[in-house]
Amino acid sequence: MSSIFTKIINREIPANIEFEDEKCIVIHDINPKASIHLLIIPKKEIPSIMELEDGDSDLIGYLFLIARNMASKMDLDGYRLIFNVGEKGGQEIFHLHLHLLGFK
Ligand code: 5GP
Repeated sequence: MSSIFTKIINREIPANIEFEDEKCIVIHDINPKASIHLLIIPKKEIPSIMELEDGDSDLIGYLFLIARNMASKMDLDGYRLIFNVGEKGGQEIFHLHLHLLGFK
């Protein structure tokens, strides 16, 4: 079964999409924890950091570059980048995503 984020990528459920390219999508979190709260989501369905493979290193680096670009585009003065990992790490959706919590 595809994840909720894959359903958003496939336009099966709606989301406020800030950016998209062939490798990732960036959406606004439905329940924001900061004035700007983005989720940077690779299109590849990796459940969490725990399941990363060696070949995913470029993709992970890419997510951070997208985060930098988004922060710059939104004129943020500072931000936090967070991966929640595993249930005990606070992860609720098992499709990898990088949280960008932005402050002005
Ligand atoms: P996690 O706890 O897995 O690291 O983060 C999941 C995040 O996804 C939460 O911050 C939650 O608010 C957000 N979220 C859950 N369902 C949806 C949804 O349907 N749309 C959007 N835009 N965000 C969602």
